[in-house]
Amino acid sequence: MRNASELSGILTRIDGAGYKAYKDIHGSWSLPPFTLFIDHVQGDPYAAPSRMRLRLDAADAAFPPGTTGTRMRTIACEDFVARVARAEASRHSRPIGTGGGGRIHVDAGGQEILHRTAARVTGEYAELRLSVGLPAQGRRVMGRAAAGILLESVPAAGEVSLFHDSLPLSGLADHIDAAEDHERLAALLPGMGLVAFVADGSLLPRESGISDVPLPDDRAVRFRSPDALRLEVELPHRGPVSGMGVREGVTLIAGGGFHGKSTLLEALSLGIYPHVPGDGRELVASRPDTVKVCAEDGRRVENVNISAFISNLPGGIDTTRFSTENASGSTSQASYIIESVEMGAGAFLIDEDISATNFLIRDARMQRLIAKEKEPITPYIDMVRPLYENHGISTVLVLGGAGDYFDVADTVIAMSDFLPVDVTTRAHEIASEIPTPRLDEGEPLRLDIEGRRPDPRSLDPGKGGKPVIKCRGLTSIQLGRTDIDLWALMQLNDRSQTRAICGYLRLLPRELSSSPGLRDAIEAISGQVEQGGLDALSQYPGEHPGDIAYVRGFEVAGAVNRLRSLGVLDK
Ligand code: ADP
Ligand code: MG
Repeated sequence: MRNASELSGILTRIDGAGYKAYKDIHGSWSLPPFTLFIDHVQGDPYAAPSRMRLRLDAADAAFPPGTTGTRMRTIACEDFVARVARAEASRHSRPIGTGGGGRIHVDAGGQEILHRTAARVTGEYAELRLSVGLPAQGRRVMGRAAAGILLESVPAAGEVSLFHDSLPLSGLADHIDAAEDHERLAALLPGMGLVAFVADGSLLPRESGISDVPLPDDRAVRFRSPDALRLEVELPHRGPVSGMGVREGVTLIAGGGFHGKSTLLEALSLGIYPHVPGDGRELVASRPDTVKVCAEDGRRVENVNISAFISNLPGGIDTTRFSTENASGSTSQASYIIESVEMGAGAFLIDEDISATNFLIRDARMQRLIAKEKEPITPYIDMVRPLYENHGISTVLVLGGAGDYFDVADTVIAMSDFLPVDVTTRAHEIASEIPTPRLDEGEPLRLDIEGRRPDPRSLDPGKGGKPVIKCRGLTSIQLGRTDIDLWALMQLNDRSQTRAICGYLRLLPRELSSSPGLRDAIEAISGQVEQGGLDALSQYPGEHPGDIAYVRGFEVAGAVNRLRSLGVLDK
C-alpha cells in the first residue's frame, strides 16, 4: 500500500494541473495508524464531493464489548462516533477556492439515534466515512491545500473518534444507555397492552416549529402522568421509571387549543426512534408499527381500495380500486390509512390539525341534512372501533372539537396547561347524560386488503431520459422526471433516511418482478439490509454510501405510493 509521502508527492506533482489529475489519488493509503481509502474522486469542484473512508484496526480502536455487544449498542456507538467525528470535521472544514472545495463532512444525526452508515465499529476495524471537497483554484488542483485536508484534517477527525479511549466516555455510555433503555421500553409495550409510553419528567415541546431541539427547560412543563394511567416499568439503566401508558384500543386526546395536544402526539409519533440524551423524549416509546396519517389533498392515489371509508362517489367512480391524480382531503386520508394497513400498521396517530374534518366526523344535524346515500364518506368515528376490534389496529386521536367520539373512546385524556388529565369516566358519563343523536354509519368492517403489485416499469427512473433517483431534501425525491413529495410522511425525520428511500427505489423494480406485492418486495430489501447492512442501499455498487440512515418500510411505501407515475398490475 502506498504511504503518506507518496500521497503528498502526487499532490505536489499535480498542483496547478487540471482537476481531473486528482484521479491519481484514488485508492488506498497507509497513514499510520489509519488506512485512508479514497473511494471516489469527484470530477470537478462543483460535483458531489469525493468519498473516502478512514479506517483503524480494531486492536488500536479498542472498543470494549460493552460498546458493541448487541446490535442496539453497536448502532448507538456508531451513531456517537459519527457525531464526534462530525464536530471535529466541521472544525477543519472551510471553503477553499471554487465550488465545494475544502468542505469536510461526516453525516451524523439529529435528535434521533439511528442506524447509519457514517461510522462503523466492527470486530475488525473502526471506520469513518467522510465526504471531502477537493480544493481547486478555478479548475486547477490546489495540491498543497488538498495535502492539508487529507494528511491532517481527515486523520484529525479519526484521532478524536475512532479510538475508544479518546471519545468522551461518559457521553458514549449515556448514549448507549439511552438507546438500550428505549429499546427495552419499546419491547415491553406489547406485553403491557400498550401502544406507547411516556415517562414522567419527559420534555416534549420543541424549541420552534422548525427545530427539533427541546424547548429550554425554564419555559417547558415536564410531563406528569395522570394517576389513573400511571404505570411503572423497569429499565436496564434508568431502573424503575413511571409514566403514562397509552393503551391499545381507542384513545382520545382532548383539551383546549394551545394546551399541548399536538405536541404530545408528535412525541408519540417519533417515539418509534430512540433519542439522544438531553432530548427530553428519551423515554417516550411507541410501537414500531405506529403510523401518523393526515389529509393530503392534491396527492396522487393509485389503485387503493378505500371502499371501507368511501363509496358511491359521484360519477360512479369505483372506490375498490380508487385512483386519482388529485385526491381530496378525505380520499387522501382514507388512502393513507389503507396503504398503511397494507404495510401492516398496528396503530394510527391522527391529529385534527392536519385531518379532513369530514373524514373524522359527521354530526347528527349533517346526517339529517345530507342523506347517507348522498355522502360517500363513512367517517372515522364509525370505523375506529371495528378497526380495533376486527383488525387489532389502535388509534390515538387528537380532537378538541367533537364530543361524539366519547362514545367510541376507551380512554379520554384531556391536556390542560400542557399536562394530561384522565377524563375517561367523566367523558363516558357525559356520553350517557347527553346521548349522541347521530346514527352509526359504519358497516361491519372487513378490510381484506389485497397487497398491490406495482408495475416495476412504472418505477423506472430512466423513462424518457437519464436514470436519476436523487434525494433533494428531507421531503423530496427526484425519480426520473418526476418529483415525489414526502411532506406527509411525518415520521421521516432525517435526510439520510430519505437517501435510504432512494436506495430502496433503486432496488425495487428488480425485487418487484419476483415479489407478489409491494410489501413483500420492501420487506425483502429490508431483509438484505438486515443481513448486509445499510451499505446495501448504496447508489454506488460496491462502494460505501456514508450518508444513509435506517428507514421503515412504511416510509418507503409512502414514497412509492406518492409516485406520480406509479402503476399497479392486475392480479
Ligand atoms: P394544541 O395542539 O393543544 O393546540 P400544541 O401542542 O400545538 O397545542 O402546543 C401549543 C404550544 O405550546 C406550542 O408552541 C408548543 O410548543 C407549546 N407546548 C406544548 N407542550 C408544552 C409543554 N409541555 N411545555 C411548554 N410548552 C409547551
Ligand atoms: Mg394542535
